[in-house]
Amino acid sequence: MSIISLSNVTKKYSNGTTALRNINLEIEPGEFAYIVGPSGAGKSTFIKLLYRELKIDRGTGHVARYDLAKLKKRDVPKLRRSVGVVFQDYKLLPKKTVFENIAYAMEVVGKRPREIKKRVNEVLDLVGLKHKIRSFPNELSGGEQQRVAIARSIANAPKVLIADEPTGNLDPENSWEIMNLLEKINLQGTTVLMATHNSQIVNTLRHRVIAIENGRIVRDQVEGDYGYDD
Ligand code: ADP
Ligand code: ADP
Repeated sequence: MSIISLSNVTKKYSNGTTALRNINLEIEPGEFAYIVGPSGAGKSTFIKLLYRELKIDRGTGHVARYDLAKLKKRDVPKLRRSVGVVFQDYKLLPKKTVFENIAYAMEVVGKRPREIKKRVNEVLDLVGLKHKIRSFPNELSGGEQQRVAIARSIANAPKVLIADEPTGNLDPENSWEIMNLLEKINLQGTTVLMATHNSQIVNTLRHRVIAIENGRIVRDQVEGDYGYDD
């Protein structure tokens, strides 16, 4: 069974902009897929629907075992346990330490202090930042902040990891380091979905490529290429 399944999904903003039209898509457990397309194509909207930041207004959608159209507001945290999210601008909490940033994601889903302590150390070990556990975000480089954000996103062992331009603010070296981590997480069984403008990465680290233009899927290719000039 697909871990992500969308059928005839349409999303229109209140100002009348139709950001997605009639999206049909199946993603299987363990897949790695890139979402590509020009600016304004609908990539962010697509990603926001998957973690229920936005509600779909037509069609049906399932992520893990959750029905996106029927999910009650109070059940959104349950979905977020199955779906980790990483952003271009990291979105770490500036007044919390690295430990607290990751611990917080586990506290809100009711994990106990002992398990939290163990898991925070585990995920920081995975991203190579155990020595920064007491640091604050503004004491870290961009690449380090993104690695902490990735550690946070997988703290609750989500089935799906969604990344919206995770390398967009990073230089090539840090970008590749982030890709190594996403690759490692994917090889451990997590489904990874990543929106990106980084042609070198897409063309080098080959995975499924889903291209969106004008709110429609215009290409869906196994081990595809980036396909744009920018
Ligand atoms: P991408 O991530 O591919 O750049 P977006 O999903 O951000 O594209 O945007 C898709 C379309 O929806 C664009 O036309 C954009 O201007 C519009 N849009 C995005 N967010 C909003 C919003 N909050 N309100 C109205 N229109 C929006
Ligand atoms: P750019 O002119 O976009 O920085 P580069 O050839 O330097 O192009 O980088 C290669 C890829 O890495 C680009 O496709 C770009 O998306 C990404 N990239 C590298 N550095 C940055 C940066 N500082 N900001 C945004 N994207 C970057």
